[in-house]
Amino acid sequence: MSLSATLGALALTVSAPESCARELVVLGAGQDAGAPQIGNADDTGPRLLPSSIAVIDRENGQRFLFDATPAITEQLVVLDRIEPPKNGLGIDGVFLTHAHIGHYLGLAYLGREAAGASKVPVFAMPRMVKFLRENAPWSQLHTLDNIAVTELEADGLAPVSDVFGVFPITVPHRDEFSETVGFLIMTPEKRALYVPDLDSWDEFAEAGGGTLSDLIGGVDYAFIDATFWDDNELKGRDMSAIPHPRVTGTMDRLADLPDSERAKVHFIHYNHTNPIREPDSAESKEVAERGFNIARRGMRMCLSD
Ligand SMILES: [Zn+2]
Ligand SMILES: [Zn+2]
Repeated sequence: MSLSATLGALALTVSAPESCARELVVLGAGQDAGAPQIGNADDTGPRLLPSSIAVIDRENGQRFLFDATPAITEQLVVLDRIEPPKNGLGIDGVFLTHAHIGHYLGLAYLGREAAGASKVPVFAMPRMVKFLRENAPWSQLHTLDNIAVTELEADGLAPVSDVFGVFPITVPHRDEFSETVGFLIMTPEKRALYVPDLDSWDEFAEAGGGTLSDLIGGVDYAFIDATFWDDNELKGRDMSAIPHPRVTGTMDRLADLPDSERAKVHFIHYNHTNPIREPDSAESKEVAERGFNIARRGMRMCLSD
């Protein structure tokens, strides 16, 4: 199927909640490198785009992106078909989790060789902002005013409009170039959690972040790291030293929560090797049977009553 046919089919399969003032859209649910991953020409499984979500605020005519992935061009087409831009690119804020390829490379498409955008608001943590200011090609986005960066504070509410704000949550991760955060997405009626990438929920708790159950208790939807299914996934490799919560481990950790709490969980950022990539796999069925959900590209959730 051609790209435009794929996108057309996708736009038709998603429902349109007409009365929804604010809406969340899943633009990608894969790990940074997507799928097929480079060098895997024989991979015939479902295509994955890197993890990203969008929030549409129809009252204010605004659209926000969480993470700027290497597939941003295609992901914005999907968003445009759901809610066309008001002006230009129609991106009123890009919230960056960290400086790994799946989460920020898409910023390059705001620059001179592509959109030549003007002052797209970008929100990031202090080390991430410094990294973008001091390293090419990102520094050129500053000097040409393609982006306008706002520095976020760790664990503090950042109001963006009267009905939309974010609360960055610092998480443990491989922080070579930037710190890593997840986001609490705050609207007057609903909250969502987006933590696509972290090393471990135990390390998060030990650092004072609290438990995953508590985080889920404070939101309506939780999009959380599902990079790997279990420790047998990467054939021939000892996975004990490879970070990321396993989907099986996260489900065990949350097994005693009530149905309504488990139903908030949407696994995201899955690796090309993770069997939940296949909607019909035994593992995907197990996730559903245990009361959890898997984020899929094109999913839409209303954030207003
Ligand atoms: Zn990632
Ligand atoms: Zn990462």
